[in-house]
Amino acid sequence: MTPEGQALLGQGAAELGLNVEGQLPQFEQLLDLLVEANSRVNLTALKTESDIVLKHFVDSLSCLRGGHLDGAGLRVLDIGTGAGFPTLPLAIVRPEVAFTPLDSIRKKIDFVRSAAEALNLTGVTPLVGRAETLGRDPEHRERYDRVVCRAVAALPILAELGLPLLKPGGLLVAQKGPISEEELHAGRRAAGEVGGGVTEVDAFTLPVLGDARTLVVIEKVGPTPKKYPRREGVPNAQPLF
Ligand code: SAM
Repeated sequence: MTPEGQALLGQGAAELGLNVEGQLPQFEQLLDLLVEANSRVNLTALKTESDIVLKHFVDSLSCLRGGHLDGAGLRVLDIGTGAGFPTLPLAIVRPEVAFTPLDSIRKKIDFVRSAAEALNLTGVTPLVGRAETLGRDPEHRERYDRVVCRAVAALPILAELGLPLLKPGGLLVAQKGPISEEELHAGRRAAGEVGGGVTEVDAFTLPVLGDARTLVVIEKVGPTPKKYPRREGVPNAQPLF
C-alpha cells in the first residue's frame, strides 16, 4: 500500500474512532490479495487503491458505529458478503468475534476463504449458499447474535432474510446508502411481520469521502413465523411490503 493509501486508511479509521496502526500489515495484505484475485476473476468493480481503501475497508468498518458488533464470542452472519465485505475488515479489527460470511456465488467465497486463511483470521468461517436456505436449516436458524449486510437488497427483503437467522434479542445491522422514507416504512412493516422492530436509524457520512450512509438496526423481539423465509428468490421477487 502506498503512503497515501495508508494515510487514507488511518484517517478514515480515526474518524470512526478506531486506531488500525497495528493491523496495517493485514489491510495491506488484503489489498494485495484483492487486486491480484480481481485481475483473474471479477470480484469487485472497485479497482484503485484509494477506492478499495475508502469504499471497501473504511466503509466496512463503519458497521462498527453504535458498538453492536463489540463482544467476544458474538456469532455474526454476513449475508451477501461478495468479496468479503464487511466481514474481512471487521474480522481484522475484531478477531474475538466469530464471523460467517455467506454468499451464493462460489468464486466469491473461495476468495474470502483464501484471504481469511492468508490473514490468519481464524474466527472467519465462509459459507456458500443462500440466506433463504440457511434460514430454514436448523443448524443456522436462530443461531446468530448478529446479522450484518452491506449493499445487498431493500430493507423489507433483508428483514425476511435476516430475522429467521437471529437468536431472540439478536440484531440485524443493515448498512445502506441514503434510505428513502418509503423503504424505511416498508422495512418497519416487514420487520414486524417477521418478529422484529427497527430500533435505530443512524444516518452518517462516510469518512473522507462524505458519501451518505445509513445503518438500520432491527432487533428480533419475537419469534419469526415458520413460513419465513419463503423459498429461494421469492423474498426478492415479491417483497413483503
Ligand atoms: N456485501 C458485499 C459488498 O458490500 O461489497 C457484496 C455486495 S453485492 C452488491 C451483493 C451480494 O449478495 C452478491 O455477491 C450476491 O451474490 C449476494 N446475495 C444476494 N442475495 C443473496 C442471498 N439471498 N443469499 C446469499 N447471497 C446473496
